[in-house]
Amino acid sequence: MSHRITLIRGDGIGPEVIESARAVVEATGVNVEWDIQEAGATVAEREGDPLPERVLGSIRSSGTALKGPITTPVGTGFRSVNVALRQELDLFAAIRPSRHFPGVPTRHPGVDLVVIRENTEDLYRGIEFERGTAQTARLRGVLEELAGYRIPEDAGVTVKPISVAGTRRIVRFGLEYAQRNRRKKVTVGHKANIMRFSDGVFLQTALGIAAAEYPDLEVQAMQVDELAMWLAWEPETMSVLLLPNLYGDIVSDLCAGLVGGLGLAPGANIGERYAVFEPVHGSAPDIAGRGVANPLATVLTAVMMLRHLGEGDAARRVEGSVGALLEDGGPLTPDMGGTATTEDVTLALAAGLR
Ligand code: NAD
Repeated sequence: MSHRITLIRGDGIGPEVIESARAVVEATGVNVEWDIQEAGATVAEREGDPLPERVLGSIRSSGTALKGPITTPVGTGFRSVNVALRQELDLFAAIRPSRHFPGVPTRHPGVDLVVIRENTEDLYRGIEFERGTAQTARLRGVLEELAGYRIPEDAGVTVKPISVAGTRRIVRFGLEYAQRNRRKKVTVGHKANIMRFSDGVFLQTALGIAAAEYPDLEVQAMQVDELAMWLAWEPETMSVLLLPNLYGDIVSDLCAGLVGGLGLAPGANIGERYAVFEPVHGSAPDIAGRGVANPLATVLTAVMMLRHLGEGDAARRVEGSVGALLEDGGPLTPDMGGTATTEDVTLALAAGLR
């Protein structure tokens, strides 16, 4: 069976790591028809839009995309392609696994965590009021009238919406994921003691669904600051972490750091109809174009994509090749203490497929 996959190389180190993952996927013999699409700064300069409609159209038609990181230009007025993709395709769930591979130096061998992050609400919804504008002045007036809150004149404001409907779908997604992957414990991170009406909705909804629909799972609630302490102290006691958007973003990078860094952290953004697979790391402009980007995060991202497509055997073979390479100590790129190039790693991974 042939799979049609939208391929977005991205920019910075994106093209380097995406081509590596593509080569490894092709070496498995899985039949893929790649629909190559461009998004980001170059296409924005040419066409005025960093995410042209045809890119979304391609994903709507293929259902699946493999994407490299895309630089978010600061202060140009262009929307972030990454945020826009999640919103346009309603990719409400991010899955970010952090598993320790033998051979990778760490203080915490045995870590096997998965962050399930809500991807569309919370402080990242993009509801912002700029300091000193007329809009913000009106907002300050309304807040004072409604609730007696006095916001300083020189403050900017970001709004944090968390809905029952938005929480229900991520909670069901996360608990289904735990059940399907035979994980017994789910930790719901929150700060509902302080943010009673946003995190409070997340927590109450999560605990309600867990009790009513997933009685066999151990679902524990934990304040996110306490969670941070446990992740530094005994991360091997945690399994699935179910988090609202902002905490999920921060905690998933922390978890990546526990098992060897961003160069090893894969990710997926999933909705009801579409799935976009991308590594957690960004476009790393500091090393772009030098041929030394670590492709392992993107290759492990492709493993998640292969599983999603029902190609479990190919996924196991690629994961096995990554595991063997790490256990043998290389070849590794400089971020992991080696001297190899992206291409050296790619060739070793393809040769290591069993
Ligand atoms: P980054 O992840 O690009 O880089 C952080 C550090 O990690 C850098 O030192 C970099 O060299 C290193 N690094 C990251 N990936 C690596 C890899 N595969 N191999 C070796 N080293 C690697 O984060 P940043 O510098 O904060 O962001 C750069 C740009 O990427 C920004 O414009 C940001 O908005 C964008 N970004 C995009 C995405 C995405 O497309 N999903 C995600 C995060 C950041």
